[in-house]
Amino acid sequence: MEQLMRDFFLFLSKNKYLTKLAKKYGLRFGAARFVAGETIQQAVNVIKDLNSKNLVVTIDYLGEFIDNEREAKEMADNSILAIEAIGREKLKSQLSLKMTSMGLDISDDVVLGNMRRILDAAVKNNVFVTIDMEDYSRCQKTIDIFKQLKSEYDNIGTVIQAYLYRTEQDMTDLNEYNPNLRLVKGAYKESPEVAFPEKKDVDENFKKIIKMHLLNGNYTAVATHDDAMIEYTKQLVKEHNIPNDQFEFQMLYGIRTERQLELVKEGYKMRVYVPYGTDWYGYFMRRLAERPANVAFVLKGMVKK
Ligand code: FAD
Repeated sequence: MEQLMRDFFLFLSKNKYLTKLAKKYGLRFGAARFVAGETIQQAVNVIKDLNSKNLVVTIDYLGEFIDNEREAKEMADNSILAIEAIGREKLKSQLSLKMTSMGLDISDDVVLGNMRRILDAAVKNNVFVTIDMEDYSRCQKTIDIFKQLKSEYDNIGTVIQAYLYRTEQDMTDLNEYNPNLRLVKGAYKESPEVAFPEKKDVDENFKKIIKMHLLNGNYTAVATHDDAMIEYTKQLVKEHNIPNDQFEFQMLYGIRTERQLELVKEGYKMRVYVPYGTDWYGYFMRRLAERPANVAFVLKGMVKK
């Protein structure tokens, strides 16, 4: 049943008609629990509050699967506005973004042009930029873009997904760049031809790549809400005397808020992924797919209103 619900929400996440409808009708259906607001000012207020609790942030102007150059440019302009807000307001925040929002599905020139504008603004404002990882069909292209931009800029990292069979090889290939990587389990619906279908195999691979990246001496963001993975990381760094400034934990805004604060109290760096903007639909559906229990939460919220 749970698997059926997951598949259903992942299927809905790709529906273009519902995406447009959601944009038109604003932050409804409980999405506000996971999204910081529709405007940069709302997001800035949320970040200030998180920073005051010693949580650091990565901000994301929501958008994906853009299919025309004008909209991709607008997406880049909005990411630059977010970077400038970080600089102006002295926020403890990085920036995350998706390559399909920058024109990955249009052309290399469009996506690289937009990314260079963003990275120039990020260098000026001392902001680190992370390229999110999307579905399998975009994985190779995203890694190629990352490699190209990493050879031009220092302030860039990307994401590696534990559920893909190819991941261990990707980590080996990327090691020469000493990349700052966010490691995740993976959020998209993938075929068993390319991704581990069983959760236990994903978890094993997740542990394997956490260990690999940390022991290679690279900066590692362990992005998970799973206590087993967090405990594993804590033990590993203790055993190998890895300093606290070589890694951080990351969680999503609105998920396990108490746990985030506990990790800060324990002395760990904890970064919260804060999405904002009107294109919240796909992001919201993936969050429901990850934890169908959230559906009950959302329904309760709707009944109250
Ligand atoms: P899961 O296996 O989903 O959950 C494991 C356990 O965690 C649960 O059994 C439960 O004990 C606990 N848990 C989870 N959620 C809750 C909750 N709401 N309340 C209480 N306990 C809970 N994916 C991508 O594909 N590309 C990306 O670029 C990407 N970026 C991400 C950035 C960040 C900061 C984070 C945190 C995730 C990102 N993801 C990304 C999503 C990721 O791939 C997973 O889909 C998502 O994090 C769920 O997996 P999990 O590791 O949290 O563990």
